[in-house]
Amino acid sequence: MTKVAFIGLGRMGHGMAGRYLDAGFSVAVWNRSKAKAEGLIARGARWASSPADAADGADAVVTMVADDVAARVVWLGKDGAAATMKAGSLAIECSTVSHQHTLDMARELRGRGLIYIDCPVTGLPQAAATGKLTLLVGAEAVDLDRAKPYLAPIGDVIRHFGAVGTGTVFKLINNLMGAVQIASLAEGVAMAEQAGLDMNLVAEALATGAVASPQVIRHSKRMVARDFSGASFTAALRHKDAAYAVKLADSLLANAPLLGHAAIEAYTRAKAEMPDDDEGRMIEIVSRPK
Ligand code: NAP
Repeated sequence: MTKVAFIGLGRMGHGMAGRYLDAGFSVAVWNRSKAKAEGLIARGARWASSPADAADGADAVVTMVADDVAARVVWLGKDGAAATMKAGSLAIECSTVSHQHTLDMARELRGRGLIYIDCPVTGLPQAAATGKLTLLVGAEAVDLDRAKPYLAPIGDVIRHFGAVGTGTVFKLINNLMGAVQIASLAEGVAMAEQAGLDMNLVAEALATGAVASPQVIRHSKRMVARDFSGASFTAALRHKDAAYAVKLADSLLANAPLLGHAAIEAYTRAKAEMPDDDEGRMIEIVSRPK
């Protein structure tokens, strides 16, 4: 039976690991806090005592953790996955990390005879749990071909942008634009409220008008209703993505990306006040009276 190690069982990773069980893989799981693994263990996953234990004998290791720091720990830390991975096996990074991180990891893991691809995703936790993520891949074509059987359970669209790192470049662009849109939407909704507009009409007009991106459609009614229930992307994660993206933008563009820096400022406040809450609660910060 094909063996997969899945590391990082948060909102996204829990559902993704479950997809490998559904697809009949032999799955070993590890998460920093074990409680999140219980449901998967009950469904047949093997609990591993460390990333290294999870990776032992695996054909592919898939990670879905918060950021660069977490990713470095689970791949290259004292009991990191790389310690036990067999030569020629696949290291698939689904976490959203920085561009430099993907380049560093590719170099370090390649030096150990492993194949590293960056595969950040778009889609909410519900899409993760149903195998409907869009996978943004950076890899040599031959490595992507080898990885495809391990990508099929978790995603229904693969976008291959080029060599290692390019999937992450696109993901950071995508999420920086999302950060700008959501912060800007919060300002628009707050302005409409202060000006006394009919907010049901505002929500409908925003979600069906010329600025109705999927982010605006998703967040406008939730912001107006102050209803942040359901699947969540946290303020802390949005801040992290924007910070990685702006660092990349600063290295690529001669003129500083002003909107990106403004979004970081907005999410620095949101992260300080409500790190683990839905990013849409930005409206509560923006709409506070002077
Ligand atoms: P989450 O629920 O906060 O889960 C974060 C995961 O990272 C948990 O497993 C956590 O372990 C682990 N972690 C954090 N710091 C760690 C450390 N120092 N060492 C080891 N493990 C550590 O986040 P999520 O929403 O699943 O997001 C996971 C990744 O997917 C992030 O890179 C995020 O940007 C990306 N993403 C999220 C979404 C979304 O809609 N949520 C969509 C696309 C991409 P514990 O459980 O022990 O805290």
